[in-house]
Amino acid sequence: MTTLSKQFFESAFCNYECRELLHPWEKSCTKAQAQFVKSCFAGAVKYYGLFYLVSALLKYKEWDEKYLINHLICYSKSLTAGTLIGSTFLTAACILRSILGRFYYNTGTFLPGTIGGLFVFIASPSKRDMISQVFLQLIMESFVNKLEISGTVRLRHVGIGTLLFMITNAYLLYLLRLETNKDGKKKRLPIWIFRPPRPSSKNTTNGNPCNHCDTEFCYDYILEGVKTYFKYGCIVELCKIIIKNFSTIKSSPLAIPSLLLKLNIKTGLFAAGYVGIYRAITCYLCQKHGKDDPRYAIVGGFASGVVYPFFPLFNLLLTAISSCIFIHLWKVEDKYRVPIGNLLFAICLGYSFNVRIFTPNACPSSLARIISSITNGRADDIVNHIQRETTMKVAENISNQLLSQKL
Ligand SMILES: [Zn+2]
Ligand SMILES: [Zn+2]
Repeated sequence: MTTLSKQFFESAFCNYECRELLHPWEKSCTKAQAQFVKSCFAGAVKYYGLFYLVSALLKYKEWDEKYLINHLICYSKSLTAGTLIGSTFLTAACILRSILGRFYYNTGTFLPGTIGGLFVFIASPSKRDMISQVFLQLIMESFVNKLEISGTVRLRHVGIGTLLFMITNAYLLYLLRLETNKDGKKKRLPIWIFRPPRPSSKNTTNGNPCNHCDTEFCYDYILEGVKTYFKYGCIVELCKIIIKNFSTIKSSPLAIPSLLLKLNIKTGLFAAGYVGIYRAITCYLCQKHGKDDPRYAIVGGFASGVVYPFFPLFNLLLTAISSCIFIHLWKVEDKYRVPIGNLLFAICLGYSFNVRIFTPNACPSSLARIISSITNGRADDIVNHIQRETTMKVAENISNQLLSQKL
């Protein structure tokens, strides 16, 4: 896939009509937009349908009338937001092209995407927070991809990744522990694999200074964490095997035992080690000093980050960084009553369209999949069309250069 620079885009495509660049399947802007809305609705039904179905199944014990009605309302809100976020891109791009009389680099993708991103406010608050964090992480990943493609840095090195993960994890677990310590207030917690327990206000005179049950030995508490999180890690890997080999399992259930042999226990070891080391260190510090302190999370978090090589997923590091950023953003939001996190989502969405269309090589595969799913494949049609036009323009430029050299 070819990267399009700002200079190339503005010289090659500035005078294109929107139908020539953005909706080649339909000449009329109105009809093209109506088709795009239809595609985005179909994409959002499937995308959010699966998400809400899985989350409802995971909480099947909580099912009652109130839960199901609330779940349906949240689904409808996400569906409306998803449809408008995706479809506004084309509407805004056509309108901007018509008003400005030409295409500019930022009015072709970034601005229309950002305008569409403002519809995130329709979704329920918890879903808004989640999607905002996901998009910030994806944008950070695309920046890293760009730096790595240009050869500037090599952050995906396991050694560098481990050190960065240990530092970020120490800070994140400290912030999370402060957040879980809040009384009465509604907590806004970011996406993360583990929630540190509340700091205990107990002291030695009242019994165990640790933040687990008085009657439970530290050893049992640590072992329970190791066993539980090892199980969680293995379940994640099992789900991956089922999703990857779904068609094989469907056609031949006898293949299940041989597939199970492929189960990678590294994720389980990562999760078990992560929680085990954290619990062991915080318990040790509580026992040594005879009292609990949220700052122990810094030591525990730094040490537990050492298990990163078992699961050296760069996205995990980016999720930890984006979680830290969002905890701070939410504090500013609560203080000044400005929805900075959601506005950041709108900007990230605009930038996502920009990356997907102009620098497809640096676009994270998960971002390309989300954009494709939510537009039901229409975004792919636009990307492929612009890529084809770019190839033709490049070939045209080369042949013109060769011709002028001959003359
Ligand atoms: Zn148009
Ligand atoms: Zn303990």
